[in-house]
Amino acid sequence: MATIGFIGLGNMGGPMAQNLLKAGHGLKAFDLSAAALDAAKAAGATIATSAADAATGVDVVVTMLPAGQHVRSVYLDGDKILEAADKGTLFIDSSTIDVDTARAVGEAAGAKGLTMVDAPVSGGTMAAEAGTLTFMVGGSDEGFASAKPILDVMGKNVFHAGGSGTGQAAKICNNMLLAISMVGTCEAFVLAEKLGLDAQKLFEISSTASGQCWSLTSYCPVPGPVPAAPSNRDYKPGFSAAMMLKDLRLSQEAAQNVRAATPMGAEAAQLYGLMESLGKSDLDFSGIIKLIRGDL
Ligand code: NAD
Repeated sequence: MATIGFIGLGNMGGPMAQNLLKAGHGLKAFDLSAAALDAAKAAGATIATSAADAATGVDVVVTMLPAGQHVRSVYLDGDKILEAADKGTLFIDSSTIDVDTARAVGEAAGAKGLTMVDAPVSGGTMAAEAGTLTFMVGGSDEGFASAKPILDVMGKNVFHAGGSGTGQAAKICNNMLLAISMVGTCEAFVLAEKLGLDAQKLFEISSTASGQCWSLTSYCPVPGPVPAAPSNRDYKPGFSAAMMLKDLRLSQEAAQNVRAATPMGAEAAQLYGLMESLGKSDLDFSGIIKLIRGDL
């Protein structure tokens, strides 16, 4: 069993840390929130006095922070956990952040002789609690092999995407594709409504025809055809439009940096941005059908 420093015990990090404890690992936890620390202590973690303290005297450090600026601050500029860590410590950053920051932090770890992987997750808080997250891992073969047994405790599917930063790349490419397919699915259902074509009929036909996609068959944006989809509970998330917008913005930032043309991704980012400016980004991302129908 390993001793693990865990930094960032929020909606996702909290339950992920609890699963590591349940599996018998030792945990040294740190968060800026006292409530998050109390919950970790109640679950059996040792409470660290700072991020640097959480990264000292442990075999592995897992970080689960909101965005790139927090990761930069904890790893490089502020808490400097890479400097605090013992030789041989493995770093796993599971936050969803921009590819450039992931690569910069990975490089800084490498320069100190430390191994680091980016390992963002897909799956929300329920998957974090159930230990069924999907991890997309960027880093060396050795880094992946060392991280996998830890990630297996918190997730069901653990993929090695390639070198440093490709875990983040996989996450934003997948979610950009998902947003585009969801917007297209919503457009088809709204057009069908106006043409007098029953939604259930369109679902049955397109599910077995060439319009078939996950947004249609597993997460249908109209109520009825897929009972478990958020459309059946007035678009209570699920995966919120705000989180989709975060990932779309990361995809557009990355696309600009590498001069990739992603016009459909850009359009999807604009549409989810509009949903946010209408104050509706707390709806599930499939709730974009309300915007497309003109209901927001
Ligand atoms: P969250 O805001 O609930 O948790 C983040 C935690 O980090 C907070 O408890 C905060 O206090 C802590 N934190 C911030 N700065 C810190 C610092 N300097 N030192 C120590 N702790 C610090 O966010 P979350 O929902 O747990 O998401 C975490 C990451 O996972 C994000 O990058 C998010 O995009 C990604 N993600 C979230 C979901 C989801 O459904 N919530 C799904 C997939 C991916």
